[in-house]
Amino acid sequence: MSELRWNPILREWVATATHRMDRPQLPKDWCPFCPGSGRVPEDYDVYIYPNDFPTFSIPPPEPSVEGTELFKVAPSVGVCDVVLYTPEHDTTLAQLPTSHIAKLVRLWRRRFDELARMEEIVYVFIFENKGEVIGVTMPHPHGQIYAFPYVPPKVQRELDSAEEHYGSTGRCLFCDVMDEERRDGRRVLAEGYGFFVVVPFYARWPFEVHLTSLRHIGDIRELSEEEVEGLARVLKFVLLKYDNLYGFSFPYMMVLHQAPTDGKEYPHYHFHIEFYPPYRSRDKLKYLAGCESGAGTFINDSSAEEKAAHLRETPPRTLEEVG
Ligand SMILES: [Zn+2]
Ligand SMILES: [Zn+2]
Ligand SMILES: [Zn+2]
Repeated sequence: MSELRWNPILREWVATATHRMDRPQLPKDWCPFCPGSGRVPEDYDVYIYPNDFPTFSIPPPEPSVEGTELFKVAPSVGVCDVVLYTPEHDTTLAQLPTSHIAKLVRLWRRRFDELARMEEIVYVFIFENKGEVIGVTMPHPHGQIYAFPYVPPKVQRELDSAEEHYGSTGRCLFCDVMDEERRDGRRVLAEGYGFFVVVPFYARWPFEVHLTSLRHIGDIRELSEEEVEGLARVLKFVLLKYDNLYGFSFPYMMVLHQAPTDGKEYPHYHFHIEFYPPYRSRDKLKYLAGCESGAGTFINDSSAEEKAAHLRETPPRTLEEVG
């Protein structure tokens, strides 16, 4: 069973996907994403694998309940992909060569474009959950793409702020934020190869990092070939820093924020990537507790300036050092 249920109080959709509970317990030594499994090509470098238990699908299943005026119900139409980063089971995105990460960026771009053209799809969300503490069950390096039939609320909020700022100043909010960070300088980790890397002033997570394209573009389709390679380098820069912080493979959520694909123009929106690592120190996790979950206010028990300094002194120190 899978459907969208409307919350009229928070004015947002909740996707129910009860069939995901039936996901089989796979044998411990078997991985569907490894060549030889019969589920993926024998020879691939990066690969789009259709999710076996998708939250969204085309055609979507019939909703299991009937909606009312207040309790709207919609079919969970959309696409859920798994993005396999490499055939090698025991590695991570951080450990892959820059040239290989560039292949991933090209795959993201191609798949984004395909999904963007689909009439049912309004928003293409590329992301990665990494690490058992984030709830990842498959250790094989992979990310995901969810193609939504609506614009997700967090992105909608960014769009609204950006539109308002654009309307009152004629400028891009994200470009202005970048300028402000640059002027201050204390939280900036790097700038170059087409991207700007910063622990944002308003970081919710201690080691939150935002990566913004220097050029004002709405989505990855607009990246030049040079910027694709730049992005690969800058991604690796951030991920290596994370792994070097405490000497273990650092868990994180990585999300790509791009303009909607509903056919409208979004001249005020600006492509960026956000990283939310759940660790606040070597052995302490940050949980989404009462204040975060109940009030929507994050409590960050460290200062962004301090964490940026820590990240800055963690190798690689410069973008050039990334191989
Ligand atoms: Zn595997
Ligand atoms: Zn901009
Ligand atoms: Zn964002």
